[in-house]
Amino acid sequence: MLNGKTALVTGSTSGIGLGIAQQLAAQGANVILNGFGDVTGPTSEVLAASKAHGIRVGYHGADMSKPAEIEAMMAYAMAEFGGVDILVNNAGIQHVANVENFPPEKWDAILAINLSSAFHTMRLAVPGMRAKNWGRIINLASAHGLVASAGKSAYVAAKHGLVGLTKSVALETATTGVTVNAICPGWVLTPLVQKQIDAKAEREGISLDDAQRGLLGEKQPSLQFVTPTQLGDLAVFLCSSAASNVRGAAWNVDGGWLAQ
Ligand code: NAD
Repeated sequence: MLNGKTALVTGSTSGIGLGIAQQLAAQGANVILNGFGDVTGPTSEVLAASKAHGIRVGYHGADMSKPAEIEAMMAYAMAEFGGVDILVNNAGIQHVANVENFPPEKWDAILAINLSSAFHTMRLAVPGMRAKNWGRIINLASAHGLVASAGKSAYVAAKHGLVGLTKSVALETATTGVTVNAICPGWVLTPLVQKQIDAKAEREGISLDDAQRGLLGEKQPSLQFVTPTQLGDLAVFLCSSAASNVRGAAWNVDGGWLAQ
């Protein structure tokens, strides 16, 4: 379904981004990976997921907190792949502390990586998408893009901002073949969440299993983690023609979190 398209997924060396990259590859899209850490493993996983599609997998290590590096990544995508057809703004970090103890440098980093990076990739990708009259932009917000939790002021501010940014650009492109939407996951068991489970176990003097159950029980009525593959499948749907009039949505996949 996505043969000949190129998907850039930021923060795709791990977790949700890697899951989305795999599902897009399975539909035949070329993939540009981005993120820190090992690249060989994620590249092999994406190639394996693409089965017989014969896709190309690229990588650019831009730090999403640095606009000049984002510009270099978009130039790489243009030079090596002829541009970006599917842009998935997924890179994100977390830090948990009450506002009076929140380190200002963590605030700046969360706003830069979780929100401003999407502004930069979008401003650079939209002209090419408009020219082709086809494009898909998918922003990984969060249940925290729609409701708040204590201790997550920067994350909640960035994710609410990302939902607003999604709606605004969706309106700007509403008469074109470019759609812009946000996915708002609940808990997904990735390294980002594992750190919070570890911290809860340590803080409360409980086992990791109890901390995991407690974390789900506080917010997620299904008591099950959402999986990166499920989010990848939603991204594939948003790329389909069936979704061509899904615009400016903030689609929660959260085991019932927001129904409460
Ligand atoms: P993760 O920690 O597993 O992966 C984050 C990815 O981003 C990694 O590839 C990492 O290398 C990359 N990254 C981090 N800082 C970067 C930077 N400065 N520049 C480039 N890449 C960078 O996290 P995850 O849980 O897969 O989260 C992915 C996205 O989904 C984030 O935006 C997160 O806020 C969002 N999200 C996660 C959950 C969850 O429960 N895990 C829930 C809702 C939303």
